[in-house]
Amino acid sequence: ERGRLARLRHKPAITLDGERVDLLANIEMPEDTVGALKAGAVGVGLFRSEFLFMGREAQQLARLPDEEEQYQAYRRAVEGMQGMPVTIRTIDVGADKPLDGKSARQEHLNPALGLRAIRWSLADPAMFLTQLRAILRAAAHGEIHLLIPMLAHATEIRQTMALIDTAKAELDARSAVYGQCKLGAMIEIPAAALTLRLFLQHFDFLSIGTNDLIQYTLAIDRADEAVAHLYDPAHPAVLRLVADTIAECRRQGKGVSVCGEMAGDITFTRLLLGLGLRSFSMHPSQILAVKQEVLRADTSKLAAWAQGVLEADDPAFALTLPV
Ligand code: PEP
Ligand code: MG
Repeated sequence: ERGRLARLRHKPAITLDGERVDLLANIEMPEDTVGALKAGAVGVGLFRSEFLFMGREAQQLARLPDEEEQYQAYRRAVEGMQGMPVTIRTIDVGADKPLDGKSARQEHLNPALGLRAIRWSLADPAMFLTQLRAILRAAAHGEIHLLIPMLAHATEIRQTMALIDTAKAELDARSAVYGQCKLGAMIEIPAAALTLRLFLQHFDFLSIGTNDLIQYTLAIDRADEAVAHLYDPAHPAVLRLVADTIAECRRQGKGVSVCGEMAGDITFTRLLLGLGLRSFSMHPSQILAVKQEVLRADTSKLAAWAQGVLEADDPAFALTLPV
């Protein structure tokens, strides 16, 4: 089976009815681009940049990676992908990704509902501006898409846009070389999935983070073993939010991808194709298995079948039915 899958590595992911599908890699470090290329990824759909900030040696804790160190890391990632696009997500620490060295938060608070991701960045604009300048400078070396995690509010979108402008102005002031990035937002809070019009006014593309979207839709802490049995990607409410996000982006001609675990789970490949998704980002180890599903799929038949899954009382069962 492994050998058979390996032969798919250089085969383009095109469905039986001729639909081209982008299978992209999720990475945590610039070196991971090696594995992404080996797996046949056509780009990086999610570079979780927080891993540059986490788990640093004790002597480095006092110093988060500065602009130069981040610039070099982002540049290595984009050069590593040899001309293919790289989506860099700004720092998403807090909750399940604690940042050592920052003050411990009070234990009775739920960090998943607290200061994490873009909320953290907006609370520390100097840190955020440093990261934005580093990403913009790396964009002079290849195609970088800038992705913002955990947005929910119009005010957060406005503040983020203003800080991106500020970062560019700072680079202009010192005559630094930088490139332009497409701008994207993660859809991973139900409030965002329910206010897509607002997001599509400001962003070039959306990326659906199903890991958090499931957590927040179902009120299930993704790190809590005691409720893990209720963490259900096939819950009708989750599927509805995913389906509506894909449909609205397609209606408006905007890019949309899924970068949560659902994108790499072959249980959901036919469903996501049927809902119109053409961009999947996942751990490189999943790419060949998903590609095999894509090669067997006929999207002209999957669309009606997918609507049936959405309307089923038991979507997990409906997913197993033949098309
Ligand atoms: C997600 O929430 O689905 C996602 C891709 O982001 P992370 O898993 O890093 O929170
Ligand atoms: Mg997330």
